[in-house]
Amino acid sequence: MSGIYLHIPFCRKACHYCNFHFSTSLRLKDEMIEAICMEIGMRKNYLPNSHLTSIYFGGGTPSLLKDADLELIFKTISKHFSWDEMTEITLEANPDDINPATLSTFKKWEINRLSIGVQSFFDEDLKWMNRAHNAGEAERCIKAAQDAGFANLTIDLIYGSPTTTMEMWKKNISTTLSFDIPHISSYCMTVEEKTALFHQIKTQQSIAPDPEKSANQFDMLVSNLVSHGYEHYEISNFGKPGHHAIHNTNYWRGAEYLGIGPSAHSFDSKTRSWNIPNNKKYIDGMLASTPVTEVEILSDATKYNEYIMTGLRTMWGVNTLKIQSFGPEKAAYFNKMVIKEVAGGYINKIENDFMLTALGKHFADRIAMNLFFIDE
Ligand code: SF4
Repeated sequence: MSGIYLHIPFCRKACHYCNFHFSTSLRLKDEMIEAICMEIGMRKNYLPNSHLTSIYFGGGTPSLLKDADLELIFKTISKHFSWDEMTEITLEANPDDINPATLSTFKKWEINRLSIGVQSFFDEDLKWMNRAHNAGEAERCIKAAQDAGFANLTIDLIYGSPTTTMEMWKKNISTTLSFDIPHISSYCMTVEEKTALFHQIKTQQSIAPDPEKSANQFDMLVSNLVSHGYEHYEISNFGKPGHHAIHNTNYWRGAEYLGIGPSAHSFDSKTRSWNIPNNKKYIDGMLASTPVTEVEILSDATKYNEYIMTGLRTMWGVNTLKIQSFGPEKAAYFNKMVIKEVAGGYINKIENDFMLTALGKHFADRIAMNLFFIDE
């Protein structure tokens, strides 16, 4: 299980809620592609296995990549890694970039999964979010991708925006279902510091999301998707059987991955490293063969905490045998703390596995924090 993540740090517009690393200036795009290709070569031995189970273009907006950019990147990956037709190759695409020409470029490079940033089928929501696309494009792009033969599609939706009424959310779900897409990711609108939305709320130019409405919209989403045959396999992710995301599932299940590009994180089971979230400094570092990367050696406590945080969010939950591998102290601490969550109805215990209940899914972060082990 080895995956590569490529961070493409450019966007046409800054969505008001977004705290990912990106620039709305494409001035450094060519140098960025060159630096990304250099990093792929420099870090070719990072993964224990050079055969890739997944390649994931994220960002930012990777659908801004042109044919020549993809050619450079794929040619570089193929010099150092192998993959086959079973390898999941995902590209995140924004609706305003999807047209017959771009779809045919994505096909040409054997991208076999598109992740489309729809977010909502309503103009009110999209304008409030400052998205680059409109509601008409949101629907048209899904149809265009399906017509071009992209059966393996996933779309992103956001619930809990102040503009999204319960009626609108119900319609977003029914419109989504009408496309019969095999995978859906849905995230709660959250207000992150240093975003335009944070500033707008602070200065009373916008109202904050209502947690109760967000919780109700999450419940509506889960019950509708599950009753239409989707497996709720991770808190924010739903897949028809056989359509779980390979790349992200490997990440949640603790497999190694190599992150390329500014701000990208990598994990090799012993360490976590991350590149500087600055386009110019990333490029200068790579081109001078002096990458600006930080590395953290993971203690047993950090490994345990990461396992709790990611594992609990999945339908497989966490397993006591695995927890014992982090040491007897962590196992004893987990056993002591988890009893309270089980008694409160937040966690189910089935043999050696512990997973969130429907109620617990509303409090995943709080529950994980209660189970975290802090080294003295
Ligand atoms: S397109 Fe995606 S990465 Fe770019 S600003 Fe919007 S949410 Fe952030």
